[in-house]
Amino acid sequence: MRILLVEDDAMIGAAVSVALKDAAYAVDWVKDGVTAGGVLESAEHQAVLLDLGLPRRDGLSVLRRLRDAGSTIPVIIITARDGVDERIQGLDCGADDYLVKPFDVNELLARLRAVIRRQGGQAAPLLTNGKITLDSTTREACCGAVVEVLSAREFALLQALLLKPGVILSRAELEERIYGWNEEVESNAVDFLIHSVRKKLGAHLIKNIRGAGWMVEKPE
Ligand code: CA
Repeated sequence: MRILLVEDDAMIGAAVSVALKDAAYAVDWVKDGVTAGGVLESAEHQAVLLDLGLPRRDGLSVLRRLRDAGSTIPVIIITARDGVDERIQGLDCGADDYLVKPFDVNELLARLRAVIRRQGGQAAPLLTNGKITLDSTTREACCGAVVEVLSAREFALLQALLLKPGVILSRAELEERIYGWNEEVESNAVDFLIHSVRKKLGAHLIKNIRGAGWMVEKPE
């Protein structure tokens, strides 16, 4: 799961980045509105954390342009502007949620999980295809009687697959969801993760479609 963080404050940006990485997200961090707009055109992220007071282009303009372009990516505004009018404006511009600084990072993570779940059409905190169940709050994966806590990367891999059951995800698509821009990705990193998740939960749960990629089955 790959998040775009748009924040010009170095300290807040660094703290949020670390918290997101610890919570198994891949994070790309940009520091101004124009760069954010350009990056969002490539549509490689699954959610955006957006500051409002930004150099070069205000966060509300970034959001307006994004929605005008038809994007439905979940957006959480994170800002020190705490006036009611500002919040209403942010939500009216198409934000999914709004968090006023200073905020507790655990609250940010909970809200992020919630908007991502709703985007995936699942309101419950558990992601499941009927065989594997993944708990995004604890990173626990259950399959029958097997319950395993996954590593951050294993979790990111399984989450990507479970958000699109029945859809084949290629190596590049999986890498894009698991790793940020500045992370070195070994050529066999995805194979390695698939192997370790299969080892924990059972080999049959993730199907390999030769030459195309991997998938988990749709719920019956
Ligand atoms: Ca700012």
